[in-house]
Amino acid sequence: MRILILGPQGSGKGTQAKRIAAVYDVPHVATGDILRGAIAEGSELGRRVEPILERGDLVPDDLMVDLIRERLADEHGFVLDGFPRTVPQAEALDAMLEEIGKPLDVVLLLEVSDDIALERLLERRAEEGRRDDAPDVIRNRLRLYHGLTEPVVARYHPMLHAVDGELTVGEVFAAVEEALGQVAVVRLQPEPGSSLDSDPERVTR
Ligand code: AMP
Repeated sequence: MRILILGPQGSGKGTQAKRIAAVYDVPHVATGDILRGAIAEGSELGRRVEPILERGDLVPDDLMVDLIRERLADEHGFVLDGFPRTVPQAEALDAMLEEIGKPLDVVLLLEVSDDIALERLLERRAEEGRRDDAPDVIRNRLRLYHGLTEPVVARYHPMLHAVDGELTVGEVFAAVEEALGQVAVVRLQPEPGSSLDSDPERVTR
């Protein structure tokens, strides 16, 4: 399955994406994790993006698109978390997937208020010490989410499954599984007159 998970910082995307990856056997591709990994390694990419992440700004679209193109090149399925964050990134992703004839199966949106997002990110700061979870940086990140990423949410509106992200982790995952189950069931329905294709790979990858 090719799954996109959208939602503001602090909506629980990472937590849910990890569970989806484990249950549906797809890789969790999180652009924030990839960039933090590059910074930790001290690679050229890491050195370039470090000040951008510290300010809570966005890494330029062309760099992100190249990174995702390379990361997804050999994947049949994935749960994508943190990308696309802008309309040009979404256009590039759709074009990339269309080119290889593998469109997205489902787009999930985790909805939380800014107050809850801020509260959760400050808690995470205390637990994990992420430097971009400082109050001023969080405000910048949420501002960019509303300005640049909400139009991406609007773009996927026709195929969006919105889930209340303020529920508990287990409750949110139950709603996510329901949304993914609907897609899997639809994909298992044979076309009238066609041979039944019940290859589990089609459902899980
Ligand atoms: P995240 O862990 O998804 O909150 O990402 C952490 C930071 O990485 C963001 O605040 C951005 O600076 C950068 N980043 C991650 N994904 C993207 C993206 N798709 N486009 C631009 N910047 C990104």
